Amino acid sequence: MPKSKSVSKRVTVVGPSRRPGGGDGVASGQPSYRVTQSETVTRGPKQIHDIKMAAEERYQRVTTGLSDESKRVLADMRREATPEPIDQPADMVMGGAEDDDAWEDVPEPDSAVASITYAIRDLLESRPMYRKYRDQRTWRQRVRNLDENWRPLLPQLVDAYVHWRYGTSSNIGAAAEPSDYDFDLETIDIYNPARTTTIRRSAADVSIAEVLVRNGFLGTVPLFPSRAVSLKTLELLRIIRLFKPSFSIEAFTKVICHVYVIPYRRYLRTAIGDAYDIYLTILRFVRKHVVSSLGRDSPDWRVKNACPACSYKQLEGESPATFSRIVVMDGNNSLKRMAPSGTRKIGDARVFDESDYFLPTEYVEQFAHEVRGRQLGERPEVPVRDADNNEDPFEAAEQEGDPTDGQDVISTCTRNWKAAAADDKKRMWAVFEETGIFACACRHGLMLYLVDMIRSGELAKYPLAIVAKLCATLGERMLIGYDVGCSFLQTIAQSSLGETFNNLDCRMCVNAFHGYSHAYPCQVQHHPNVIAGAGLEDLETLERIFSASNQLAPVTCYASAYRRRVLIDEFFQQWDDEKYQNIGLMLYNNYVQALDIIETQSVALTDALRSLQLDADDLRRFQDDERRYFAELRDEEPSNLHAVAYVEALQDLQTMSEALTSTSRQFLDTARGSVTWAPPETGPTAYYQALSQTRKLETKRRTLRENIQNLTAEVVEMEARLNITNRWQPGDVQYEETLKYIMTRKYQKALGKLQRLVIQRLFELHKLNLSQTAYRVRSYIAKNLQTRCKAIRQAVNDYNAAAAQLNPPRPPLDWSKVSHFSFLEEFSLLDDTRNDIRNRPWASPAIRETMRTARRVVRASKEIDNVNREIRRLHTAICDEETLFTRVLRDLQAAKDPLYGATLECCQRRRSMNAYNLAYIQKLYDLKGFTGTPGPGIRAGTSIGAGLQSKAPAAPSPAPAPVIPPSIPGLLRPFEELVSDESIHIGRDEEDAEVQVDEEDVREVSELVEHMSDIAVLL
Ligand SMILES: [Zn+2]
Ligand SMILES: [Zn+2]
Repeated sequence: MPKSKSVSKRVTVVGPSRRPGGGDGVASGQPSYRVTQSETVTRGPKQIHDIKMAAEERYQRVTTGLSDESKRVLADMRREATPEPIDQPADMVMGGAEDDDAWEDVPEPDSAVASITYAIRDLLESRPMYRKYRDQRTWRQRVRNLDENWRPLLPQLVDAYVHWRYGTSSNIGAAAEPSDYDFDLETIDIYNPARTTTIRRSAADVSIAEVLVRNGFLGTVPLFPSRAVSLKTLELLRIIRLFKPSFSIEAFTKVICHVYVIPYRRYLRTAIGDAYDIYLTILRFVRKHVVSSLGRDSPDWRVKNACPACSYKQLEGESPATFSRIVVMDGNNSLKRMAPSGTRKIGDARVFDESDYFLPTEYVEQFAHEVRGRQLGERPEVPVRDADNNEDPFEAAEQEGDPTDGQDVISTCTRNWKAAAADDKKRMWAVFEETGIFACACRHGLMLYLVDMIRSGELAKYPLAIVAKLCATLGERMLIGYDVGCSFLQTIAQSSLGETFNNLDCRMCVNAFHGYSHAYPCQVQHHPNVIAGAGLEDLETLERIFSASNQLAPVTCYASAYRRRVLIDEFFQQWDDEKYQNIGLMLYNNYVQALDIIETQSVALTDALRSLQLDADDLRRFQDDERRYFAELRDEEPSNLHAVAYVEALQDLQTMSEALTSTSRQFLDTARGSVTWAPPETGPTAYYQALSQTRKLETKRRTLRENIQNLTAEVVEMEARLNITNRWQPGDVQYEETLKYIMTRKYQKALGKLQRLVIQRLFELHKLNLSQTAYRVRSYIAKNLQTRCKAIRQAVNDYNAAAAQLNPPRPPLDWSKVSHFSFLEEFSLLDDTRNDIRNRPWASPAIRETMRTARRVVRASKEIDNVNREIRRLHTAICDEETLFTRVLRDLQAAKDPLYGATLECCQRRRSMNAYNLAYIQKLYDLKGFTGTPGPGIRAGTSIGAGLQSKAPAAPSPAPAPVIPPSIPGLLRPFEELVSDESIHIGRDEEDAEVQVDEEDVREVSELVEHMSDIAVLL
């Protein structure tokens, strides 16, 4: 720092004022100091100097008792080798990097022992103890002050940054020359081992912060920094984080300390963290300017336009799509954040509301309390008296409803979901503030909206808010996949959105993998397998997204609310860029897969139809019939439940009466034996034994009699309620029917349990196979699977026992076959106890298989339709975008706009992605089975640069913007060059690798299933 040439000498001290009276509180029995409201005191350099001297004096006093060696160590740790100049108060006053630590309560001299403890603790920076003592208000104050002081500087900093980053040496100008105003500053720069840098400054420069940015540094505090971090260092951190989101600032600081050959210091981490916040803010400003120069800053532009495959509708030649958009949504709780615990208050109260991914909290809250929370236990349970009653925990319902609470009755589909949600809740509540995110993405994986889940599980308001926003921005005919889509549909219907959703002709469904765990009647309606318009889409996009975003979890968990959101926002921007870059590849792969299905399975289908003597119409009819059958299936009549209770009571009565008869007989026999007075054969012991047995029998007889009396009273009461005049007897029609019904219930219960266990197991296998599953989780799951296998074996035994009791008995299951996916479908057929399914043609295995194949072929051809449409949109968008880039860049350059450089960089990145996409577009056009229209078309409505006209009057463009035909060789030349570029050359290897991954996944899962089955057999 210069000798305060142009630095104001008056500085502001912020912190709690202590002991305002200056008196000695100890004497009066009061606490030795009192922390009052934070206040701002303005002090001159003289006073500040005095304060520093006083602190120094205290330190000297505190350390008097220590050995020379200890003092030397402490001095070392205090960095006394490089002391702060005492006449330069900036750091101490305005919250320099150490400020995080600086507002520690200064130890009072009167208690020497405690003071030494404090001093050593401070100097050694022993964290766990340290945190406890600190007054959080001072830190909060510090963060607020930093924020408030940075804000007015930002526009200048953004200009300075653009200047530094994209300016030419000629216009950096005078400051490059040494002058009297230059000063040296401690700097953190991973590219430069020197610890200080000379900062060039001219007489005209006023703001230190701005001067620093022009020199390529960012101060760690806005006004009087004593330390600065180089912009290149911050950029390196940013880039590393793009590809390794879990990379922490602490780790980065350690890297720097390693380069500097110094031990890790926490204040450096604070300095880098603070500077990084501001660096990202500056970049966001720049990005905003660039986006606006491209005419892409209208509200909701990103959601409406970011995915060209979804949005870039063509003026002509486009086959009508069944669904205008296919989107998915789901909640995930890995991105949670610890709530401040106990007395710890929130230090960083900043709110990050610049992200256009996050829906504002107020918006989400509009949908709170739309549905009432419902308890799991509200479903009427049939009183089946078997030993196994370890059912789902009945959690007390919370006030707000979850996404499934719009249903009249909790369906089997949502029971598991609700139980899992209750488990999660138990683990999360009270510990976390944000408990995760609820996200929505398009089928191509581009993120649409995010909602923070706050101190709650997955409540109905989160998906409702997202659906409301989707309806408002994207409009009609959306297909929305959600793992409890079936019941959430009813929740929508009951909410304020019901009518809109209906009028827009939108539709909910479940996603493929989770869908298998739903009740079969639901699957025939809501599973993507039966929705032709969905193509081959499995709607599991979010599972893949979350599996990647889980990487962020270790850094968001302990971050402040502000930083957590910044991290998430940065992560999804990068995610979207990567998804956009790979969209051509994704469409290409989908096309190849669809062609493959059509080629291989069409033949099989034709053969099957011929041998079954059926045609496509028959299959359609069967499918409708199946759907209708399950839709009309009703739950049991409530009167049955009473009959069940009655017959069970009768059965108990019968059992007890029989027991009474047999006990009485035994009792009489014993008694009869005793009156014969036969000489005891084995002496007095036998006599006493006989006597004691007689007494026992008598007691038993009495208990049984009492029980029978009670039960009889119960039975009589039931008979009165059920209007039964003659007691049912075994052999009566009603009695036998109810008995049969009880057996059926037992059977269904056993079946249900088996099904649940199998589904759980398959889910665990699925999770086990997901990348990013941590090792510990994998071991945990593997262990769980073993117990699950035992449980499944037991459940199969129970099932077989119940099946044998049925009339007619059901064949037993071979449980090693039970674990396969295909078997899940069988459960619904086994569940039929009226025996009327078996007569239906669609219940025969051969026909079912044929129906499955037929559906797959239909969906594959629909996928081809979808991709034909989407690939053309993508191609058109890329061409239009090139036109836009050329025009905007030309105008900016002509106007010598400082934003030219930033915009150029953005366009270059985008161009390279486009080139990569074009390569796949070309490959797709070249496919042998390609049936679409090759080449770009014309966009319906406005072009990609809508809104540009006003900003670039030089380029006259009437709406709809005319699109230069892409066949003009000059236009596509840059792409062709890029496509032929080695770096993005796509050879067979890469393409094969992409396809293989999927196949490998599938194989691995099925191998695991086999393997686990084998283990189970051995158990
Ligand atoms: Zn999309
Ligand atoms: Zn369902």
